[in-house]
Amino acid sequence: MRKDDLITVTIEDLSSEGLGVGHYDGMAFFIKDTVIGDVAEAKIMKLKKTYGYARLTRLITPSPDRIAARCPVARQCGGCQIQAMSYPAQLRFKEAKVRNNLVRIGKFEHPPMEPIIGMEEPFRYRNKAQFPVGMSKDGRIIAGFYAGRTHAIIECEDCLLGVEENRVILDLVLEHMKEYHIRPYEELTGKGLVRHVMIRKGFATGAVMVCLIVNGDSLPHADALVERLRTIRGMASITLNINREQTNVIMGREIKLLWGQPYIEDTIGNVRFRISPLSFYQVNPLQTEKLYNKALEYAGLTGEETVWDLYCGIGTISLFLAQRAKQVYGVEIVPAAIEDAKANAALNGMTNAKFFVGKAEEVLPEKYEKEGITADVIVVDPPRKGCEESVLATMIQMAPKRIVYVSCDSATLARDLKYLCHHDYELTCCCPTDMFGNSVHVETVCLLSRKDK
Ligand code: SAH
Repeated sequence: MRKDDLITVTIEDLSSEGLGVGHYDGMAFFIKDTVIGDVAEAKIMKLKKTYGYARLTRLITPSPDRIAARCPVARQCGGCQIQAMSYPAQLRFKEAKVRNNLVRIGKFEHPPMEPIIGMEEPFRYRNKAQFPVGMSKDGRIIAGFYAGRTHAIIECEDCLLGVEENRVILDLVLEHMKEYHIRPYEELTGKGLVRHVMIRKGFATGAVMVCLIVNGDSLPHADALVERLRTIRGMASITLNINREQTNVIMGREIKLLWGQPYIEDTIGNVRFRISPLSFYQVNPLQTEKLYNKALEYAGLTGEETVWDLYCGIGTISLFLAQRAKQVYGVEIVPAAIEDAKANAALNGMTNAKFFVGKAEEVLPEKYEKEGITADVIVVDPPRKGCEESVLATMIQMAPKRIVYVSCDSATLARDLKYLCHHDYELTCCCPTDMFGNSVHVETVCLLSRKDK
């Protein structure tokens, strides 16, 4: 086997980046733009010892699950890796991915799984979008997305995962820039003014926020743009974000209000959230509600419990739980998120939620060992790398009746569940949830119960 050879591969699975995976002559091959079930002819581009990369040259037999991608730039953009797979097939793939990881990594023979919670509509579900603004090769001002891993902008004002207002708002911003000769920011030279346009919509409230990220401290003729933008239904907040750094971090720290409120509000279930341009907020509120209701169901609260919510972000899960618990403690490493969590508790009149800034692996042992704080239920929602082993060890010492594990990476989830199930806990149920239709990501919520000794 050599580079440039043509091979025929049946695609069996998808990699974590969404590349099709199949075998040829004992080697695994990664092939972009294929879906599970395709029989593909591909040209070998790169060979390693046990695997290689190949480029699709011809679909010999398309998968029965293959459909036409709805978005014209799906292939270049890289945001939706699996738009060419039917939605039911996407859900089957995600469910199987979670199950396989629990079996292979977690060593659970028959993981107790509930059916995946799918979306009603896997398009237009994102409440937030950030569009880079730049110049096309022929000198037009454009907005769109970065192509794959590069910073070349692909023109696209209507991402099909985003809301329909995005296109209308971008049109008005670009028109304004043309009219007043305002230049887009250029990454190479650090010159030009407008870097990104960030748009958010509260799905429950209908409130819309526009934030222009600028390399300067004002926008020429801002009033004229405001006049146009405020005619959009739901418009509630128009701001500038100042970012003069030559960096690929999108937002700077300073916000200037142009019109309306410096924030919008939204609700998930019965809990209200105040969202400023810099706050983190779940991007798919409909599925978030379903996921957190499942977490709440697994937590089995009666109103008497002390609950810890580790990796709590802006306290979304904490406040959900606080509705049914005696006391909730949230722990999060980002100070600004904890500020938001406290403000959101106050906004909802909740006095039984307390938040700590710090690393879960430091705060939890400290509170437990020095202050003797206990837990009836512990909820964790860690980043992709999962929990530090010391966090798991402290949880085992604290011996809560139930642990609810919310995860965005089923491989590290399986690793952590294996550890907990070697130490007094058993996996009672597990429910994958699709928060990001058309991407390969899958969220999972699990219930672990303490074994009677
Ligand atoms: N449950 C939250 C989101 C969790 S995302 C919500 O619904 O909004 C994971 C969070 O863990 C992020 O907010 C991240 O800042 C935080 N984090 C990462 N490492 C951490 C650590 N070692 N200790 C505490 N929090 C951490």
